[in-house]
Amino acid sequence: MAAAKKSTTAKEPAKAETTKKTAAISKKAAAQPVKEQKPAPKTETKKTTTGSSAKTAKPIKPTKSAPKAEVAPVISNLKSKTYPLSSLPTFPISKRPDNRKNFNAIWEILSQVYPKPDIELDFKTPFELLAATIMSAQCTDVQVNAVTKVLFPKYPTIQDYANANPAVFEKEIYSTGFYHTKTKHIIACAQIIIKEYDSKVPDTMAELVKLPGVGRKTANIVLARGYGIIDGIAVDTHVKRLSNKLGFTENEDPEKIEKDLMKLADKKDYDDLSLTLIFHGRRVCNAQRPKCDICQIQELCPSAFL
Ligand code: SF4
Repeated sequence: MAAAKKSTTAKEPAKAETTKKTAAISKKAAAQPVKEQKPAPKTETKKTTTGSSAKTAKPIKPTKSAPKAEVAPVISNLKSKTYPLSSLPTFPISKRPDNRKNFNAIWEILSQVYPKPDIELDFKTPFELLAATIMSAQCTDVQVNAVTKVLFPKYPTIQDYANANPAVFEKEIYSTGFYHTKTKHIIACAQIIIKEYDSKVPDTMAELVKLPGVGRKTANIVLARGYGIIDGIAVDTHVKRLSNKLGFTENEDPEKIEKDLMKLADKKDYDDLSLTLIFHGRRVCNAQRPKCDICQIQELCPSAFL
């Protein structure tokens, strides 16, 4: 404390000196005739959907099942509202305020923006869905689809996967990343399913999570989108990030986040909620640069513009 006080006092003579100089400059300036100022040239800026100016704002890319026309009305409702940055409170990233009371309002808006969300992975059978979901870890759905477009016709049955040559298979799925582990898991899954489940991908959470490389996220996806069975909520990286940003959970662990979300959502909406948060995370609330200025739920989000 003593050191801090000393340092403040030491600055005072210099400050007095600066004040004197400033006063002298002001007097001199007052004596000068005032020059007419030219108007500043106009700079071109793009208008965002909320009416504010921003060069980075881009329109939302429509999803397969969410055409642009259906997105527009929700955004236009928020057009007249602006959010001055200075008036917004700031919170540490890890401690968003509890915003569970706004879950229903946020869900209502997002379900209009992304009506009937559908999985973006291509598949025809539950095993293809299982394999594609395993391959999608740390990889984009677009890249997985590019790989499976060639892979699936080459391996038409589950027996083909069980008998696959690992070295060849690794090369075939190389571009999805982590190809060594993914190959091991997909081939082992096929062998176990043939041996223990009569070649049919199991349709219960308890059985699915026993398969190698299959956690609750993958199991929820296979159950919901392969069999139409709703058990829980698939929590991937987007669902995790958005659940925290939106103040629906304080947890980092996907299983705890899933439980928190299951307390908020109706069971019938579990799968749609997961896909909707994934779509919003990909199209608007990006990890690196969230597009809060065009976000349809900015009014209800405790992380807006932070
Ligand atoms: S307002 Fe910003 S932080 Fe909140 S959900 Fe929208 S894009 Fe994400």
